[in-house]
Amino acid sequence: MSNLTDLENKYYMQVARRQPVVIVRGQGTLVWDENDKEYLDFTSGWAVNTLGHCHPALVRAVEEQARTLMQTSNQFYTVPQVKLAQLLVENSCLDRIFFSNSGAEANEGAVKLARKYGKINRNGAYEVITALNSFHGRTLTMAAATGQPSYQEQWQPLAPGFINVPYNDIEAIKAATNSNTCAVMLEPVQGEGGVNVPSMDYLKQVREWCDEQNLVMVLDEVQTGIGRLGTLFGYERFGVEPDAITLAKGLGGGVPIGAFMAKEKFCLLSPGDHGSTYGGNALTCAGSFAVVDHVIQNDIPAYAETVGQHLRDGLNALASRYENITEVRGMGLLIAVQFSSDISGQMVSLCNEEGLLLNPVRPNAIRFMPPLNVSQQEVDKALERLEIALGKVVSG
Ligand SMILES: *Cc1c(COP(=O)(O)O)cnc(C)c1O
Repeated sequence: MSNLTDLENKYYMQVARRQPVVIVRGQGTLVWDENDKEYLDFTSGWAVNTLGHCHPALVRAVEEQARTLMQTSNQFYTVPQVKLAQLLVENSCLDRIFFSNSGAEANEGAVKLARKYGKINRNGAYEVITALNSFHGRTLTMAAATGQPSYQEQWQPLAPGFINVPYNDIEAIKAATNSNTCAVMLEPVQGEGGVNVPSMDYLKQVREWCDEQNLVMVLDEVQTGIGRLGTLFGYERFGVEPDAITLAKGLGGGVPIGAFMAKEKFCLLSPGDHGSTYGGNALTCAGSFAVVDHVIQNDIPAYAETVGQHLRDGLNALASRYENITEVRGMGLLIAVQFSSDISGQMVSLCNEEGLLLNPVRPNAIRFMPPLNVSQQEVDKALERLEIALGKVVSG
């Protein structure tokens, strides 16, 4: 390995479980390491590189905007921010948007919006129901929202006002609802929790319950938004209209941007209630506009569903030949393969050797989240490399 990994080990906070790969450049679905070894990147910066690495539309937009104007603060109007807001609102069921810099921050904003609604319209209610196995980000407040003990235990005392209940269980949400509840916040498909797809009527039942109880239905679409599930927004797959959503990851395609959106009725935040220095700056908004506009103009979500089906078919074929694969699950291009034992680490290492980058989302499951414009041939090549790794893996 290179000197670089030693330097990282010396100078960087040791919080990441990194693969021993130094990525120096990327193009489309491909990346290259410092020895010029080529990999198929089926991690996409964690479902970020919607159009692959260095897509010309994104590169051009960022280059042009960098020469024009990068940052003004929200004391002023800028063209890219308003253009991106219009594009996202006009293509969603939501009425207004606010831009942040990350997914966690977007969720923080959505919770503030929900609490303000609860304060005004539900007698000061503030509690947010979230799901076990969820992932909502790494801020202290989102640690309380994220229903995974490993993300919570060390950071006590957690922010109050969050209840974590089993996912895909409407009765659990009903049982947890009380006079303090203001919102339910869920991922349409749990990403980081292992690509958990709920039953098709779950979100409809949540919608009905929120209507009945006057709760804000927030969907965390940080991972599922912008085409990942085969529709522009994940909520479309489930036939519901949420009151608010959050976005990040695929929204920027590589530039750091997040957002929360809401229906007019819930947009009760007033001047001074929320803000961000960098949020919605001209540079990231111009990049994001190029990505989202390309996705919409070229119906990339529909393509993602087609090529995602091809990938799932190929993975199911492998599952029929390799008994350590017990399940293939997912939607669009958010897919996981479940193993019968904890071989993810080993599989990811073997795939690295074969030139395929994957994410070990659970000790016994790996996640596939290639760019949404990945070609069928690239998927076939990835399946071949995966099969070589499956032939070498030693089941524990
Ligand atoms: C990644 C993720 C987040 C956190 O986003 P950051 O940009 O890392 O803060 C929140 N929610 C979901 C569903 C995610 O997948």
